[in-house]
Amino acid sequence: MQFSQKSHTRRAIVIGGSIAGLFVGAFLRRIGWHVDIYERSSIELIGRGVGIFATHLELFEALDKCGAGTVDIGVIVYKRVTFDRTGKVIAEKPQLQIVTSWDRLRQVLLKAIDRQHYYFGHVFERVEQDGSGVHVHFANGRSERADLLVGCDGFRSSVRGYLAHQVQPIYSGYFIWRGAPNEADLSPQTRETMFPYYSFFLGDQLQALGYPISGADDELRMGHRRYNWGWYRVADAPKLKQMCTDDEGREYEFGVPPPLVRKDLIARMREEAETLLPPQYLDCLRHIDQPFFTPVYDFCSPSLVFGRAALVGDAASTPRPHIRFGVSKAGAEAQALAEALSNYDDIDQALTAYNAVRQPLSERIVGHSRRLGTQLGVGIGTDEDRRMANLLQTPKGIMDWIAMPNFLETRP
Ligand SMILES: Cc1cc2nc3c(=O)[nH]c(=O)nc-3n(C[C@H](O)[C@H](O)[C@H](O)COP(=O)(O)OP(=O)(O)OC[C@H]3O[C@@H](n4cnc5c(N)ncnc54)[C@H](O)[C@@H]3O)c2cc1C
Repeated sequence: MQFSQKSHTRRAIVIGGSIAGLFVGAFLRRIGWHVDIYERSSIELIGRGVGIFATHLELFEALDKCGAGTVDIGVIVYKRVTFDRTGKVIAEKPQLQIVTSWDRLRQVLLKAIDRQHYYFGHVFERVEQDGSGVHVHFANGRSERADLLVGCDGFRSSVRGYLAHQVQPIYSGYFIWRGAPNEADLSPQTRETMFPYYSFFLGDQLQALGYPISGADDELRMGHRRYNWGWYRVADAPKLKQMCTDDEGREYEFGVPPPLVRKDLIARMREEAETLLPPQYLDCLRHIDQPFFTPVYDFCSPSLVFGRAALVGDAASTPRPHIRFGVSKAGAEAQALAEALSNYDDIDQALTAYNAVRQPLSERIVGHSRRLGTQLGVGIGTDEDRRMANLLQTPKGIMDWIAMPNFLETRP
């Protein structure tokens, strides 16, 4: 697809300066738009959680086409393994995949935007539309006019909240404990049998997994990397609410900031892990100083366009993490938006075209991610769900379906 540039400069305001915001900034810049990116955080965004991504072809295409490039993007994993409770490998599958980190991806994308037009410390408040453009207001009193507003402000998007308040994230019924121990701290057995691989352990209403990622400062050298460790557990909404309270009694709606996760919860989790997880996962856990948990939500907005405002990334739809497709989706959506704006002179027609292509795809992506979550035994409503849940209880099923490339073209 070729991008064509328009004769006069058009202007976009992007809200959110994470992965989706940077993709949109890079793609629109490439088609000759003037782009200003406004990020709520007042400081540089570094190492948010462990923020790790198994990569898909869609991501490589987007990185390539937006001008960021794909050189040294991450760690190569060439095999998947499943352990039993004693730590013995009970199944394996050759599967080449490149795994990268949030920091690495952000660094690569930053090179493709105009840093002079990236503003920290700007919280989106509201937008007025008059048919020919948008007037955006920020909490610090600043207001700006543009031809287009793009909401890239994550799954709790205030842009979406302002334009479509009824669209809300839905809690899945489970959450994931997370952490990333250093390769060098792990036992020789863990380094040999688990570290190089995308690994799984399956139990009754639980799933543990992990894969190698770059170390601090994007280190890719052997011995300097980390292992992305995760353990899915089931919790109903009242239990989650009780977990989302910190030691001071403060309540959080969508998950506790990692440093504030209560120590009693971590202690109980460590205790339970000793009786439930294989030795390799326990070794990882013992070397994670501050484990934290992320509740799993999903949703898909029925429209990605509201007048002259478009949604991209998690703001538009948030799939569950089992497909590891969030950043690939953000890149593909940013690319589709730029292609539409380049193909049509009329911005409204372009936005209609963007919505027509990407909204149904978002529904399919989120739907597929929900089916992959059935392994945890919650939210099973249909025969298809039951079939998928049974399939995912087997090592072959889990290794064939979790985080697989090209999943949109295949069905179990
Ligand atoms: C456990 C887990 C594992 C995952 N693993 C993978 C994986 O392996 N692969 C993968 O591709 N994806 C994965 N994801 C999904 C991935 O993290 C997201 O899809 C991706 O980060 C979305 O990026 P985004 O830019 O849309 O949103 P975000 O990264 O949430 O960024 C939103 C930005 O908007 C800013 N913002 C918010 N409100 C405002 C406001 N009012 N004004 C201005 N700025 C604002 C925020 O500060 C933030 O910087 C995983 C998610 C989870 C929970």
